Amino acid sequence: MAGSRLLPRKCCATIGAMSLSSLYLAPEDPQSAPDVDGVTDVLRELGLIDQPLAPGIYSAGTGFSRHVIYAGCSPFLTMQPPQDGSLQFCHAAMHGPYPQPRLVTGPNTVKPRCPACRAPLADWREHLEQWLSGSAMPSCPGCEKSWPVHELDWRAHAISGRVLIELRNVFPGEASPSDMLLKCLHEQSGAPWRYAWAAYLNED
Ligand SMILES: [Zn+2]
Repeated sequence: MAGSRLLPRKCCATIGAMSLSSLYLAPEDPQSAPDVDGVTDVLRELGLIDQPLAPGIYSAGTGFSRHVIYAGCSPFLTMQPPQDGSLQFCHAAMHGPYPQPRLVTGPNTVKPRCPACRAPLADWREHLEQWLSGSAMPSCPGCEKSWPVHELDWRAHAISGRVLIELRNVFPGEASPSDMLLKCLHEQSGAPWRYAWAAYLNED
């Protein structure tokens, strides 16, 4: 994808020191809310998920490494929960449907861009709380248009959706979904999906 050249190059050896990160999939239209059970069935049929670990949380199945495709060095993937209770292992979490799109960012989230003129919104972190509470809307410094926060171009380093699939323990740029996974989600939900990397989302 076009944004991939913007990704930082990371060596496997540095990964252990980084914060917990996930690969997310969401419908391209952040307002759409496909049936979560249907989406979960797609993941199960592809073997991406196996047993439930908690409500909405599933262990990785044998298809995980087929449908989460690593770009560079193949890390040793921990598929089982570590003894120390760490969440640093490959598993999946289903989120939603939320009444409104939920934005997930992370420590690696880059400046979002205006979807019309591409100008970067440099001070986004300072304003994010206001944007999410609805007390202010992002305003482009280039063309001066205002946008819902969910319509900014987060360049695959944040994602918005009313339904989110979270594939945990995938670092930014490290792996992306297979074409087959995106195709099956599109077919099941009737609309295209996209993906991004962001921090672990723990339900509150
Ligand atoms: Zn603009």
